[in-house]
Amino acid sequence: MNNNGTLLNYVNGQWRPSRAAEHLDVVNPATQERLAQVPLTPAEEVDEAAQAAAAAFPGWRRVPPTERIQPLFRLKRLLEENLDELARTITEECGKTLAESRGEMQRAIENVETAAGIPTLIMGDFVEDIAHGIDELMIRQPLGVCAIIAPFNFPGMIPFWFMPYAVACGNTVLVKPSERVPLTMQKVFALLDEAGFPPGVVNLVNGARETVDALLAHPDIRAISFVGSSRVARYVYAQGAAYGKRVQAQGGAKNPVLVLPDADMEMATRIIADSAFGCAGQRCLAASLAITVGEARHTFAEAIADAAAQRVTGYGLDEGVQMGPLITPRSKGYVEEMIARGAGEGAELLVDGRNARIPGYEQGNFVRPTILQNVHPESAVATTEIFGPVLGLLHVDSVDEAIRLINSGQYGNMACLFTTSGAAARQFRYEAEVGNVGINLGVAAPMAFFPFSGWKESFFGTLHGQGKHAVEFFTQTKVVVERWPKEWSRTF
Ligand code: NAD
Repeated sequence: MNNNGTLLNYVNGQWRPSRAAEHLDVVNPATQERLAQVPLTPAEEVDEAAQAAAAAFPGWRRVPPTERIQPLFRLKRLLEENLDELARTITEECGKTLAESRGEMQRAIENVETAAGIPTLIMGDFVEDIAHGIDELMIRQPLGVCAIIAPFNFPGMIPFWFMPYAVACGNTVLVKPSERVPLTMQKVFALLDEAGFPPGVVNLVNGARETVDALLAHPDIRAISFVGSSRVARYVYAQGAAYGKRVQAQGGAKNPVLVLPDADMEMATRIIADSAFGCAGQRCLAASLAITVGEARHTFAEAIADAAAQRVTGYGLDEGVQMGPLITPRSKGYVEEMIARGAGEGAELLVDGRNARIPGYEQGNFVRPTILQNVHPESAVATTEIFGPVLGLLHVDSVDEAIRLINSGQYGNMACLFTTSGAAARQFRYEAEVGNVGINLGVAAPMAFFPFSGWKESFFGTLHGQGKHAVEFFTQTKVVVERWPKEWSRTF
C-alpha cells in the first residue's frame, strides 16, 4: 500500500502503483471504516503484467521441480510466522471471526504443503515395447501464464487452491483478488516477494470486472482459474473458451443437509448451526436448507432454533464472537429481502435475524441467524443462493423423496446427511448429485490433496482446484513414441 492508502500491484518482482483512473474503497464490514483504496487496473497494465509473466516463463519452466519448490517451503514458513496478522487482515476486510480467518489460512498453508510434492505429482508414464523395440512415454509440461480470479469470501485461501500448484508445475501466474477484500493478497504477496520467486513468476493485479475481461482476452494467458458466483463463472467459462483458454470455474451453491430420525440430534444440531451460520453463511459450503424425515421434523426444528438464537453475533476481532457481518450493506439488504420473501411465500419465521443492532457496531452489515420453517420446495428461498445466515427447513416422508428433492436443485456443490444408518449413508453417497458429500459433517471441505469438487451450476469445467486435479489442470501432456534400433548402437 502506498502512503495515501492506495493498494499496489506486484509485477515482475516489484510493487507498482496502478495508473488506474478508477478506485474503489475497501471497507471494514463491521465498522464501515475505510481501510484502503483499490485500483481498477486497466487493460494496458494487465498487458504489462502478462508480458512480465510470459517473459519469466521460459526460465522458470527450466528450473528443476526440486528447486522450484524451495520458495514454497520458505513461503510455508513465512505464512505460519505471519498467520495471526494475515488472519486479522481477513477479519478486518471480510468480517469473519478471527478463528475462522485462522482456519482459512491454515488450509492455504496445506495447499502449499501439497504442492511441494510436485516432483512426485508431476510424474508421467512410461511403457516399454509398445511394439518391438518401441517405447512410449507421457510427460507433463507447464502451460505458460495462468490467471487466478478470486471471490470475496475466502480472501486468503482461495488463490491457494491454484497458485502453489501452478508455479510448482513451472507456470507463471497473475492473481486478481476480489476488489472487496484485496488487502490479504497484498500481505501474502509481500511474503511471496520474500520467499524468493524469480521476478515475473508471481504477479498481483487488482481490479474488478474490466480487469477480469482484460485477463480473459489476453493472448499470452493460457489458463483461467475462477471462483465466484455461478453467473460470473458461466460467463468466465464461456469467454475463456471463446479465447481458446483452458478454464476451471467454480460457482455458487445452495447446499442441503438431510437429517434422519436416527441421527445423533445434539451433534447434528451443533454441526448444522456451524455450517449454516459460520462465516455468516457466506461460504460456498454453507448449509442453507435442512430437510428432515419422520420425527426429526420437530426435534431438529426446536434444537436448531435454540442454537440460532444463542449464536453470538458481533465484530470478528472481539472475544467470544461466533458470527460476523455480511460483506456489504447491499448484501445485508438482499439477505433481509430474501427473508421477507420467504415469509411472503408462506414459510414461518421461526427465528428472525433482521434489524440486528450490535452495540458499538451500529453501522455494521449485521444479520443475525435466521430460520424459516415449512419452506416450500419450489419457493425462491428454497432454490436461490442467499449467501447469508439463513436456514430454511423442509420436511419430507422418506430418504428417496429427500434425494429426489436434492437432485432437483440447479446447484451441486455439497449435500450432507446426518444418520447412524450405514445403508442410508451409502445410498446418499451413491445417489446425491453433488461434488462434495458430508456424512455426519456439515462443511465437507476437501483437504488440499483432494479436488474441491462441485457439479452442475456450481462448476464449469473438468478439473477442479487443489491436489492432483490442479496438477493436471496446470500441465499439458506430451506423448513421445521412440524407436532406437540396436543396429545404430556403436561399440565402445
Ligand atoms: P462474484 O462472482 O461477484 O466475483 C468473483 C470474482 O469475479 C471477483 O474477482 C470479481 O471481481 C469478478 N467479477 C464480478 N463480476 C464480474 C463480471 N461481471 N465480469 C467479470 N468478472 C466479474 O462472487 P463473490 O460475490 O465475490 O463471491 C461469492 C460467490 O462465490 C458465491 O456465489 C459463492 O457461492 C461463490 N463461491 C464458490 C466457491 C466454490 O468453490 N464453488 C467458493 C467460494 C465462493
